[in-house]
Order: sequence, then structure tokens, then C-alpha cells
Amino acid sequence: MNIPFPDCVELSLAGQAPAYNVTTMIPEDLFELMACPVCIQPLVRKDNPEGVQCTQCHRVYPVRDGLAVMLVDQATIEPS
Ligand SMILES: [Zn+2]
Repeated sequence: MNIPFPDCVELSLAGQAPAYNVTTMIPEDLFELMACPVCIQPLVRKDNPEGVQCTQCHRVYPVRDGLAVMLVDQATIEPS
């Protein structure tokens, strides 16, 4: 699958704080806008610890204080 690089890549949370506080969950509408910064592929939620995982490269981005940290150097790669 080859998805063109979107103009809206800034919608990922990298380097910017949202205008509201999220303490427990990423809002669904925001979650749907997020993509892996490496692959620009959709993410799936993970628990224990909370994170979001790329469906393509399997990087897991941590969630801290309810915010996904979409930084490649903060991600860990899990086999599934
Ligand atoms: Zn990825």
C-alpha cells in the first residue's frame, strides 16, 4: 500500500501540545488523525503500558499523561 505523504502530517502530536488536557484516553477523533511518522500508517491502541502501535513497522509510541509521544526516538519496536 502506498499512501502519498499528507500535507496534514502536523496533525501528529509531535512537538505540539493540544489545546486541552487528556488524562485517560486519546479522543477518538484525534486518534483517527494520528499516523506513524515513519510509515504514515494507521495506529492501533495498546495497553500495559499504554501506547499506540504502528500497523506496519510495529513501533510502539508511548502515551504519557494521556498524550501520544509520536517521536521515533521514543518508540520501541515490538514483534506484534
Ligand atoms: Zn510505522
